[in-house]
Amino acid sequence: MEFLRLIEEKWQKRWEEARIFEANPDPSRPKFFITVAYPYPNSPQHIGHARTYTLADAYARYMRMRGYNVLLPMAFHYTGTPVLAMARRLAEGDPELVKDFVKIYKVPEDKLKELTDPLAMARYFHEEIREGMKRIGYSIDWRREFTTIDPQYNKFIEWQFRRLRKAGYITRGSHPVGWCPKDGNPVGQHDTVGDVEPEIGEFTLIKFRLGEWVMPTATLRPETVFGVTNIWINPRATYVKALVDGEGWIVSQQCAEKLTYQNRSVKVLERFEGKALIGKTVQNPALENEVLILPADFVDPGNATGVVMSVPGHAPYDYVALENIKADDTSLREFGLSVEAVRAIRPISLIEVPNYSEIPAADVVKRMDIKAQTDPKLEDATKEVYRHEFHNGKMKENTGKYAGLPVAEAKERVKQDLMAEGKATMMYELLNRPVRCRCGTECVVKIFEDQWFIDYGNPEWKALAHKCLARMRILPEELRSEYVYVIDWLREKACARRSGLGTRLPWDPDWIIESLSDSTIYMAYYTIARHINAYRIKAEQLTDEVFDYVFLGIGDAGEISDKTGIDKSILEEMRREFLYFYPLDSRHSAHELIPNHLTFMIFNHTAIFPENLWPRQIVTNGHVTMEGAKMSKSFGNIIPLREGLAMFGADPIRLSVLATAELLQDADFSPTVARAMRDRLERLYRLTVEILRGKGEATGEQAKIDRWMLSRLQGHIARATEAMEKLVVRRAINTIMFDLDQDIQWYQKRVKASGRGVPAKTLLETLRVQVLMLAPFAPHICEELWEMMGEKGFVSLAPWPKPDEKMVDEGVEEAESLIRSLLEDTLEILRATGITPKRVCYYAAAPWKWQVYMKALEVASGGKLNQGVLMKRLMEDPSLRAKAKEVAEFAGKIVEEINRTPQEKRQRLLKVGIIDEIQALKDAEDFLKAELNAEIRLYIEESPQIYDPKNRAHLAKPLRPAIYIE
Ligand SMILES: [Zn+2]
Repeated sequence: MEFLRLIEEKWQKRWEEARIFEANPDPSRPKFFITVAYPYPNSPQHIGHARTYTLADAYARYMRMRGYNVLLPMAFHYTGTPVLAMARRLAEGDPELVKDFVKIYKVPEDKLKELTDPLAMARYFHEEIREGMKRIGYSIDWRREFTTIDPQYNKFIEWQFRRLRKAGYITRGSHPVGWCPKDGNPVGQHDTVGDVEPEIGEFTLIKFRLGEWVMPTATLRPETVFGVTNIWINPRATYVKALVDGEGWIVSQQCAEKLTYQNRSVKVLERFEGKALIGKTVQNPALENEVLILPADFVDPGNATGVVMSVPGHAPYDYVALENIKADDTSLREFGLSVEAVRAIRPISLIEVPNYSEIPAADVVKRMDIKAQTDPKLEDATKEVYRHEFHNGKMKENTGKYAGLPVAEAKERVKQDLMAEGKATMMYELLNRPVRCRCGTECVVKIFEDQWFIDYGNPEWKALAHKCLARMRILPEELRSEYVYVIDWLREKACARRSGLGTRLPWDPDWIIESLSDSTIYMAYYTIARHINAYRIKAEQLTDEVFDYVFLGIGDAGEISDKTGIDKSILEEMRREFLYFYPLDSRHSAHELIPNHLTFMIFNHTAIFPENLWPRQIVTNGHVTMEGAKMSKSFGNIIPLREGLAMFGADPIRLSVLATAELLQDADFSPTVARAMRDRLERLYRLTVEILRGKGEATGEQAKIDRWMLSRLQGHIARATEAMEKLVVRRAINTIMFDLDQDIQWYQKRVKASGRGVPAKTLLETLRVQVLMLAPFAPHICEELWEMMGEKGFVSLAPWPKPDEKMVDEGVEEAESLIRSLLEDTLEILRATGITPKRVCYYAAAPWKWQVYMKALEVASGGKLNQGVLMKRLMEDPSLRAKAKEVAEFAGKIVEEINRTPQEKRQRLLKVGIIDEIQALKDAEDFLKAELNAEIRLYIEESPQIYDPKNRAHLAKPLRPAIYIE
């Protein structure tokens, strides 16, 4: 371990001294610009954070080796509530947070008081995170580092917002937003516990009447009002009678409070338990009939009004709840309900939908075998019915003037009509509640009045975003539809807050631009951050004209220079640098940022920059789990990154977070995996030392096995390169480390048995290539090995290997594969029978069998092999015709087998042609003898001097010699 740490420190120092990751424009080389979402410095990084950054770094390193001038910069996101809320929790002495900071992250206890200041906290963790990134070996150009509260960055954001406003994308108005009642701030994904985006839905409240009182049932499906059989109330929840905008309402207590955030005047008159309502009847405003109020446990008083209309024909929850109450004698008695009246309630069918019965809710409930109204499967059941009815459903005759309308249309019309007649109103509610603010308070929906919004609902802007997306490469491609969905779904987004760090809204400075709005085009800022830092350009010099010139090519550099005092040459340099590195080639983050940040990035780029500068690619990845469990403080399974680095080393951690999963999957970290990675790297190190020590002694002859090793190597290069191009990194690492290692071990065994010493040349060449391909993932140890091998310069800058077609020898590979599987088969027999062999006889297939086999492959190249067709072709050959019966029997055995063989493999075998199996076996005779510790005898089937006491030879097939052991 100690030695890995020394190697890491050595190379990190060398990289820094040689400044090899500092990228400047170089017109002679193609560029590649990669960015990762910058971190919020509100806590230290743990191993889970390492995945996205390590992936981006490995990609950057790979592209650098591919000859690109790669820029990978980093900055820190101080803006908004993530930092603020954490500092506030600390100031309030939140015991859990204090425990985490002190126990898990080892923040010195006397530091804590200082960190209650948001800025001090950001600065502290900023240092901590930067150190971690250096220690894990990220190839970052640190000259471009900035924070989002640097006054120069503020100027950039002001410029962006004035541009957005000029383009008509900033609106002022009233819109519903997720809201923390305690903080008095809108909340977005980055303000919530668990990083969930508050999803706002619009419920229709249908005014059922209980005498003088309105009981507003909340529904997302107003068109089903014609199928209401009863009303549901939670008997154990607290309800209120209240004057809502002067009208008497009965709603849950929580609802009364929420309504105040939606611009209603609410005066609570009386509180009571829900059961007081059970058994009364209310009037349906659409049909004017009376329905019973019944009890149901599934009714959540915290959801909308806490009053639910029951449509058992089309709503699975209602169907199950109705079945439950009908059968529940205890409840019926407890609430004094008439058994006959309740049991007489029948679901009403009002929507016709193909492939379902009259009562779709019943179909789905029965199919999914749902019995209880608390069954979580009811969510899926509800979604299924809703989806089918919404897209394919038609309103039936019993819906009056809506009969015949598609559900999608009826839904809107019923709602509009009821509202127009004063029989309904509406209310916003969070669809994915409960959503908690980082301060711990449950969020509500507030109608945010007279505020500033970014108008992601603008249809022309949406069209631009779609256009940009359509041209982008999305990795993994499966997620493209999510972006499409988000672009369509986004509406106005509140873009400013009253509190937190950040940039003030330039035209209304009481407001601070929030964190998801000041982080959409900052990738462009990296291209000039270097100049701003190096030339000490002051914020007041960075006027809109400067940004217009640098980013949009508007204006005259000389004039701008006169006005701002920035040298003309510097302005021109900034412009050149921006044009050199832009557009952004690859954007990286975890995939939960698709609904906001990543899509906002697309929108804002299309708003600000010309088409040729829009981003080219987005790569997202899953999370990291710890030994199969979600990483969470409450599970106590969080390993801080710097602690992990000290425990396992940088290269093993880098490999561990990348090798266990492809992009979409969660990677599973465990100390066992990290240690296994470390062991492998150490083995590679020892092997290299061993080979280098023996270098020059026993060179050995280049034998077939060397040709095999080098031929296999070309295949591994091709596969690893293909995987890296698609960022299928798990497969790449498997190829580079595991598959190649297996071949190396096989090669070493084969060479050892031949007794010709270590042919260092082949192994060295193989290891050299392995080190090159491993360098993006485990750069420290690879630099060390590279230097040991006497190679010049940094492996980080060495060219990525290319497969050499001339070294590929498929014949040798197939012959070796024959030996490999023959040895496996023999060992399998020995294991199964428990024999200790004295002698092993191998029988290679007779030449005529090879003839048949080749002909079969040839015929099969046209598609599926048919025995009749094959026989006809075989019988054209007189020598085969002479033994027609045996030929037919053998052909029958191989037809199935060939049809199962993948076409690619068939082509390969056909190309290689007849293999001299006896020669291949002879070449491997010493080896087989050593491996099996027995005498080896080799025969061709049907040869005169054959030793075949058990009559096994006739079982031989091409590539599958028959085996006899005694
Ligand atoms: Zn809050």
